[in-house]
This record gives sequence, structure tokens and C-alpha cells, in this order.
Amino acid sequence: MHLSYEALRRGVSSFLNEIYPYQCFLCKTPVLDEGICGDCWARLTLTQEPMCSACGYPLPYQGSGIHCFQCEKESPLFDGGYSLLHYTEASKPLILNLKHGDAPHIAPYLAKLMALNLNPAWKFEAIIPVPLHWKRRFLRGYNQAGLLAKGISVWTSRPHLSLLSRFRNTPPQGNLTPSLRKKNVDQAFEFKKVSHTPSSVLLVDDVYTTGATLKACARELKKNGIQNVYFATLGRVFKED
Ligand SMILES: [Zn+2]
Ligand SMILES: [Zn+2]
Repeated sequence: MHLSYEALRRGVSSFLNEIYPYQCFLCKTPVLDEGICGDCWARLTLTQEPMCSACGYPLPYQGSGIHCFQCEKESPLFDGGYSLLHYTEASKPLILNLKHGDAPHIAPYLAKLMALNLNPAWKFEAIIPVPLHWKRRFLRGYNQAGLLAKGISVWTSRPHLSLLSRFRNTPPQGNLTPSLRKKNVDQAFEFKKVSHTPSSVLLVDDVYTTGATLKACARELKKNGIQNVYFATLGRVFKED
């Protein structure tokens, strides 16, 4: 019997698909469970303690209520902050796929990891995604921060609420300097009136770069009576990475 290479390849591939029904989100290797394979995990850098108790910036020493230089200088807006991964060459495809790569299916897995690693001392009543302007949301088909917020809501049993709207369609932050980033998002968000305003919330976004967007959201939330604002992001840009 003559078995062509293509038929053999298809046979092996369907056999592997039965044993390994998923593909690694990063390298596409067949894997047993939905998510990231061991080799890709080994290349990712998870954030870890000790960190600034306001913004999650890594610190060389441990201590409760200790702040990084930046938060000390500005007087901290956040009551706590956490990012799952350092934004590195290894994690970049994951973050960019969620943002621009039409890969909303990876959000629940990543949201679960974010939720399970949150500081249990943070008592937030609701989860608030950083909103996209409606035009951008329409073009992308989804808000990646909204998908992460929804996933975190499942694992923390707190509701996800849309408390903010983005009324200015600001240009993408990508190539802007830190001061232009701040100017770009200042006053871009508006608080939506709800029947019950929670007293503490967890803000969720895909990536923390300079923090300008999250800070603009936190200012708007605090201005409208929310006392405690924590944040969680999937990735975070650290200068030293
Ligand atoms: Zn992989
Ligand atoms: Zn800080």
C-alpha cells in the first residue's frame, strides 16, 4: 500500500489532536490542557514580591505599606496594584494577540491566572474594565480589558460593572512619551451614574505601560466617591526588562 506523506502527516496530526486537543497560546505546540506549554512558561517572567504596595513596582525590600519612589513622589492613587507578567519579548505575543490579534478565546485562561494571584487582602466590591472608545471597540469586536474583567469576575465572585466610558477617541498610546501619554488620556473618561456606587473597585486593563490610562481612570473613580481603587493588569512594562 502506498501511503503518501500528506496522508501520513494528516493521520499523525489527527492522532495527536485526540491526545492533545489544544494548542499552546504562544508556540502552537499541541498541549493537554488549554493554555501555555511548559517551555513557553519557562520563558515568561511573573511579577513577584517584594513590590510597591500601591502600584506593584518591584522593590528590593519587603515591608507593609512601602511605596516606590514614583508613588511616594506623586502620593499614591492606587490602594494596590498587580500585574501578572513582565512585558518581555516572551510575553509580548500573548499581550498583542489579545489586543490586536483577534484572539479573545485566550482571555478566560489569563483572567483566571490574574484572579488567583490577586492579593487576598484587597476587599473590592466590583471589577471595572478600562473602557475602549466605542469606535475602537466596534472595529476590534471586543474590549480585551472587558474580557479579562469578566473572567476575573467568575473567579472572585464579584460583579463586573461598566462604570466608566471613554468619550474621547484618543490616539493609540504606543509611540507617545510619558508626558504625552498623560495628556492624551487626561479627561478621556467619564463616570457613569449607577444606582449603587461601590466603595472599592478593581480596575482591569491588559497592560500597564506608564500607568497614565489607569491613573486617569482611578482619578475619575475617586472623584465620584469611590474610596479604594486597586488595579490588575495582564502585563507590565518595566524599564529594566
Ligand atoms: Zn508553547
Ligand atoms: Zn508605586
